[in-house]
Amino acid sequence: MITKKQQREGREKAARLMREAGVVFQEQELEKLEVADFGLSRLETEGAQIFSLFDTKRLAARVITLFPYQTEPEHWHEPEDTGKEETFRVIAGTLLLYVDGEDTLSRGKIPEESRAYYTCRHELVLGPGDTVTLEPGKKHWFQAGEEPVVFYSMSTTASDARDPFTDPHIVRVTQITE
Ligand code: ZN
Repeated sequence: MITKKQQREGREKAARLMREAGVVFQEQELEKLEVADFGLSRLETEGAQIFSLFDTKRLAARVITLFPYQTEPEHWHEPEDTGKEETFRVIAGTLLLYVDGEDTLSRGKIPEESRAYYTCRHELVLGPGDTVTLEPGKKHWFQAGEEPVVFYSMSTTASDARDPFTDPHIVRVTQITE
């Protein structure tokens, strides 16, 4: 759960960073910029600012902003049908992306409160212009480094509300309170 104030501040901060990064959008579109806490109520460590550019039955494109060391929890996209293939491309800042494989985690910080739900330790460090595509079903989580990061998440059909997360406490639809 987040407050309206947290939502407003998160939107403003993310909008400023997106603008600085050269992302073009209309002011009224900010209404749909999602400040997500994944139902964990610790937005600063586990959360994301998600701005949908478009979302059709076949394709989705988003600009995701993370503040320093803010983390999107570990999840995957079910490989049912064609599954969601997801491509990350960094616009500004550094994205720390974690997938299965040899433990090379050195720059990232696993959120203490939910350490058990972060199993991927293979660290990929992406800077502006770097692109990585993940196949459907591949577990992943990501985090900003010391600086905020702004990046694209482009994918085939998105079904965020149904995506499985490792942490069973996660509720994908953010509750907003006064
Ligand atoms: Zn994903």
